[in-house]
Amino acid sequence: MFSKSYVNLAQYEILLYLHGNRRKYLNHCLAYDLLPLNILTATMNLQLVYVSPSDKYKERLRDDWFYVYQMAKFFRWWLRKKFTLYYTVSTNVLVVEKAKLMRFRFGMSDLMKYHKEKGEDNYHLYLSYFKPVWSDCSVGFFTDNIGLIHWKEYSGKVESYRFFVPENCARVSHVLLHEVGRQKHYNNKRFKDEIHEQWDKHLYGVDEFEFYDKKFKRVTDKDDCMFATMKIPEYAP
Ligand SMILES: [Zn+2]
Repeated sequence: MFSKSYVNLAQYEILLYLHGNRRKYLNHCLAYDLLPLNILTATMNLQLVYVSPSDKYKERLRDDWFYVYQMAKFFRWWLRKKFTLYYTVSTNVLVVEKAKLMRFRFGMSDLMKYHKEKGEDNYHLYLSYFKPVWSDCSVGFFTDNIGLIHWKEYSGKVESYRFFVPENCARVSHVLLHEVGRQKHYNNKRFKDEIHEQWDKHLYGVDEFEFYDKKFKRVTDKDDCMFATMKIPEYAP
């Protein structure tokens, strides 16, 4: 009835939508990186917030920022592809002035405050230079609409992305999975335990991470990869 070659992309998108071919429509949106019309209002915001102390942020950003930016795009794709969760993903930097006194040291409660100020409906994933004092998550911290990983600084010994893939990217997937469980209304405790059991299998070399190249294509050889995620735990609610 209509051909892709005779209409521009926006028209094609609307035609698919109007003709109710939902699966084709969603695939089309995924292929062209478009936001589906019918869930436009339900789109959620995910922001990766890179948290750095003020005295080091320039050098840290020089090493890390390009990867953080690419990783944000990757996880937008991953959340859509694997869980049909349509997030608008953005990146931001939070520079923290160092307090002279230990008791005023910037911490988790300050990030909670920052999150509240920016709008609690946004999901913030902090890539932070500090670890939370307490957490029941082995790689970071999570609660409603907030996640955190302790971002490992590039050591300079190998190519930067080879360092970031296992040390940071896979950890982000772990914390995101906690949020996926919440969005999907999985049994929180059980899904959390499954994430942690699966994570331990990666840690102890029982399972490999899932590797993806720069075009988000799955690759088996970790030398070809640019991103990695943990395996998604099998879950039957
Ligand atoms: Zn966890």
